[in-house]
Amino acid sequence: MQPLSRRKFLATGAAAAGSAVVLRSSRAALAGQAVTPQLSQFEYADVQLLDGPMLEQFRANHAFFLALDDDKLLKPFRQKAGLPAPGEDMGGWYSFSPAFDPPKDLTGYIPGHTFGQYVSGLARAYAVTGSKPTQEKVQRLVRGFAATITEKFYVGYPLPAYTFDKTNCGLIDAHQFAQDPQALAVLNHATDAVLPFLPEKALTRAEQNARPHPNVSFTWDETYTLPENFYLAYKRGAGPRYQKLAERFLQDKDYFDPLAEGKNVLPGQHAYSHVNALCSAFQCYLATGSETHLRAARNGFDFVQTTQSFATGGWGPDETFRAPGSGEMGQSLEKTHSSFETPCGAYGHFKIARYLMSVSGDSRYGDSMEAVLYNTILGAKPLLEDGSSFYYSDYNNSASKFYHQDKWPCCSGTFPQITADYGISSYFRGPRGVYVNLYVPSKLTWQQSGARATLTQKTNYPYLPQTNLELQLDRPAEFAVALRIPAWAGSKTRVAVNGKQAEGEAKPGAFFPIARAWKNGDRIEVEFDMPTRLEAIDPQHPNTVALMHGPMSLFAVGELTGNLSRAALLNPQQTSIGSSDWHVNSDSGIIRMTSFASIQNERYRLYHEVA
Ligand SMILES: [Zn+2]
Repeated sequence: MQPLSRRKFLATGAAAAGSAVVLRSSRAALAGQAVTPQLSQFEYADVQLLDGPMLEQFRANHAFFLALDDDKLLKPFRQKAGLPAPGEDMGGWYSFSPAFDPPKDLTGYIPGHTFGQYVSGLARAYAVTGSKPTQEKVQRLVRGFAATITEKFYVGYPLPAYTFDKTNCGLIDAHQFAQDPQALAVLNHATDAVLPFLPEKALTRAEQNARPHPNVSFTWDETYTLPENFYLAYKRGAGPRYQKLAERFLQDKDYFDPLAEGKNVLPGQHAYSHVNALCSAFQCYLATGSETHLRAARNGFDFVQTTQSFATGGWGPDETFRAPGSGEMGQSLEKTHSSFETPCGAYGHFKIARYLMSVSGDSRYGDSMEAVLYNTILGAKPLLEDGSSFYYSDYNNSASKFYHQDKWPCCSGTFPQITADYGISSYFRGPRGVYVNLYVPSKLTWQQSGARATLTQKTNYPYLPQTNLELQLDRPAEFAVALRIPAWAGSKTRVAVNGKQAEGEAKPGAFFPIARAWKNGDRIEVEFDMPTRLEAIDPQHPNTVALMHGPMSLFAVGELTGNLSRAALLNPQQTSIGSSDWHVNSDSGIIRMTSFASIQNERYRLYHEVA
């Protein structure tokens, strides 16, 4: 991924804040005006994926959760409420269990924790598809949950904020996307139940450690992620107390203030929850105009990209951010198989990247999304009925794909959310037209200057370095179609409109707007100059490199014998046009290289030692 100059980044933030940047305590700045970003998201229904691996993954998750038994999902809540609780235990993290013995055995860890995310995933899937049974299921689950709400649920519960944050998300999504008439009232009731169990402010792990705790799991709560969904609850009409609650849990002193000042305070922190917390800073910016919080979100994301990321776009080995200059990213290739927490990490990454793109219009956020898409989440193994979940991408030098040891972990909750978000991550709406962010088979429908417009994208990207877009318009209209030209793109990248080269320069690392009077049947064709390059794991291991082709990491698959040279790696041969396989020559034979999504049960390797 193109490393962004941090100087340029920080300069942008400082310029936005005005020349005399005085970093006050950010809390003092929260009285400002709400902000409307220059780019907005489309509605879920506006973007339909067409046949391809993304649609397959979305459909599989949608069907999986639509079929999951209501009684099983509601069981932990009914048990705590003393209500009849029919149905089997789901097991794993989701059900109460006497086996719970942290950190050794996480069976029974946080019962009901992902309920809200499953409801959220279904609500978003309803918004995409209009499936009535899905809407009915969402509303049934909300009604079922409403009957169980009691403070008793959180007595002796190790992570009340963590679970409530997801419950909150599920309920506001049920309201917003599945038109559940009761969801906000249920949220208010659920909020009353959890408040006695929340601390007075967001706590770091060190602060939680310093307080009395029955066992170590009580020090793992993630109160600092609460503000995002509190701000959204406020925005969606849940009531004024949600804005106050959001402000109460902003982790300014320990996290956002130093990030806003350009201090990299990520090392040592839990990875996913601290990326997710950047979304809280961002929502604070939207709600109040606080530039400090925008800078915190931008700088935090920048630090993740430039100091914590693998070539795939994934980050945080063993779920922990590392000190730049420590060489620990490189060391992780020998030490761990828990390289990137994939569904959660990809979900959080997409979310903050969408947010930051919406205010900046900066295409590099889209570049990072496509890397995470092709190199991580699109290769996740499907959920299994027993709760087996894909959790970690493995970048160990002896790597394989595997399900997590615990059933129904966090990643089973974010997986249906990110796949439902694939459509809204693919296009954005700008003041002058539409932005094409991802090159994926899809169809966008919207109103443009009074015309009904449809943009149909057909592509086998990134296996074929091209995409074709066609417009259907019920009458001609003037607007811009802005194409993301990835920073990695070579100088031979070409954009054509109706077979003729488009005017202007398609500069890598920027959106390329094509503004004209469009008419029905107009076509845009993009040919990407998709170069091959090597990326070192970290500056301390300059000869430990991954092979990149365009947005894709290519993984060596099968038995690896012999040595690879830089020159050999830089000359991979695609086995046939449009194939997901390439070959490179080692000094003792041919090595198959392939995309993460194409790996099944083979051993594989991402990084290679080259002389
Ligand atoms: Zn997870």
